[in-house]
Amino acid sequence: MSERFDVVVVGSGAGGGVVAGELAERGRNVLLLETGPHLTAADFERWESKASHDMWFPIRLALPAGDPGPGPLALISGRCVGGTTTINTKLALRASQREFDKWNAASGVQLSVEEMAPFYDRVCSYLGVRRRADWNWRQCVRTAAAGFEALGYELEPVDAYTDENCMQCGSCLQGCPTNAGKSTLNTYIHRNWVAGRLQLRPECWAERILTADGHATGVQYRDESGAPHTVEADVVVAACGALGTPQLLMRSEIDNPWVGRNLGFHPAQFVFGLFDEPQDAHMVAPISSHFLENAPDDRGGYIIEAVTVQDPIGFTVALCDENGPMWGEPLVEAAKKYRNWVGLLCLSNDDNNGRIEVDADGNETYWCDFQPHEIERQQAAMEFGRRVMEAAGASQILWSTFASTHVQGSCRMGADAGSGVVDIHGESHDVKRLYVGDSSVFPRTLSVNPSLTVMAMATRLADHLDANESGYLSGSRQLVA
Ligand SMILES: Cc1cc2nc3c(=O)[nH]c(=O)nc-3n(C[C@H](O)[C@H](O)[C@H](O)COP(=O)(O)OP(=O)(O)OC[C@H]3O[C@@H](n4cnc5c(N)ncnc54)[C@H](O)[C@@H]3O)c2cc1C
Ligand code: SF4
Repeated sequence: MSERFDVVVVGSGAGGGVVAGELAERGRNVLLLETGPHLTAADFERWESKASHDMWFPIRLALPAGDPGPGPLALISGRCVGGTTTINTKLALRASQREFDKWNAASGVQLSVEEMAPFYDRVCSYLGVRRRADWNWRQCVRTAAAGFEALGYELEPVDAYTDENCMQCGSCLQGCPTNAGKSTLNTYIHRNWVAGRLQLRPECWAERILTADGHATGVQYRDESGAPHTVEADVVVAACGALGTPQLLMRSEIDNPWVGRNLGFHPAQFVFGLFDEPQDAHMVAPISSHFLENAPDDRGGYIIEAVTVQDPIGFTVALCDENGPMWGEPLVEAAKKYRNWVGLLCLSNDDNNGRIEVDADGNETYWCDFQPHEIERQQAAMEFGRRVMEAAGASQILWSTFASTHVQGSCRMGADAGSGVVDIHGESHDVKRLYVGDSSVFPRTLSVNPSLTVMAMATRLADHLDANESGYLSGSRQLVA
């Protein structure tokens, strides 16, 4: 006999972890399925290749569909309980009204800063978001700050979901070993799982959403051993991230023209400056300050985040000079000076021209299609970063290949089925009782880091489901301990 839940949530990252935790906390009977392993702070260690093998999806590449611009784009995301929040750098930024205006214009939905404020507030209080007063504690940050000052600009401390136990070790991308860095794993999920309110099934790959008569009825998945299972649900929430959710919908034959389209990247590249004294930019809270003044498109359309270099493998495999990706003696020389490099992360606004395709055998392909004005924004960001490093006194400038850690928008919200996959509440226009609860729903990429907005939208979705105005949830609330 198949099991039955009020809500089955697929994917435990910024979106799914919050929807599942919020609903479990309100006494709803929730199952959370996650394809990655359930690892905790006790497992996290700074063995770079092991951690990325265990906790990340293998790096995927978005291929240039048109102008190759800066080349293929490496797509980085988490594959573990907590999803990408378990391996991210914890910046907590709200979207501005300028961003919501872009969303509204693209999709016909209407969202505003005022409407979203209570949801952001709730997430911030849950995660303990704080201003990083210790932002310029390390020499590498002071080096970069001096470069900004020399040009008449100012670096500002970030708000982050890290508590005061953050020892600035720099290993956020391998999972925080102290739990000072928050994620959906060590907040929304653990709190409810430990209390027995939430069923969590890690290493379970959702194959398809089951439907009948235009309604979602459950999920078919495979467990760690490959054994197939089905579970029934009043409501299914797909939250596999902006790369995973459209694939799940495609496998489930959800027929909407926007599935897999409108993929945005918020593309990023490092500019690295070399200094005479050791900077140890791998041993600092990776991103403790930022420069947001040029975020609006009419001011350049980019932001700069300071300061970090990845661990040695990530640093060296991505290093570029004017000849492209580095190799041989110049790479060896640069790597030998690992401790002396300072990295600025330069991210630019894009226009959601990417897409995801899945062929009949289930093989996925990711495409980017940057237009000349988008490439110009990225070049302007890189030029700005270079000027800052030079003003700080760098003796050599290098940079990284092109990457995205902020994929968004591949199942966007829209006023109707012709303009989006889901409505303003996240419900599919085509299949009732099916919701999308992750970064896929963003109509346009944000110019700031997206996780806080994903979590605020997920909180809003949990409120909507729990209010049960559609009458989808048939069970009554359980007594919450
Ligand atoms: C290195 C890095 C640093 C970042 N730093 C920041 C930051 O400082 N601040 C910020 O705001 N944002 C940051 N981000 C981005 C942010 O973490 C993501 O935007 C956010 O986590 C996306 O949430 P999501 O729910 O859409 O997807 P995810 O958090 O990626 O969660 C999706 C989950 O679904 C699971 N899944 C996928 N397919 C299936 C399937 N078929 N069955 C079951 N489970 C499945 C995945 O394993 C994953 O756990 C960073 C990202 C990276 C990679
Ligand atoms: S820098 Fe802080 S938040 Fe990041 S892993 Fe280290 S202790 Fe955790």
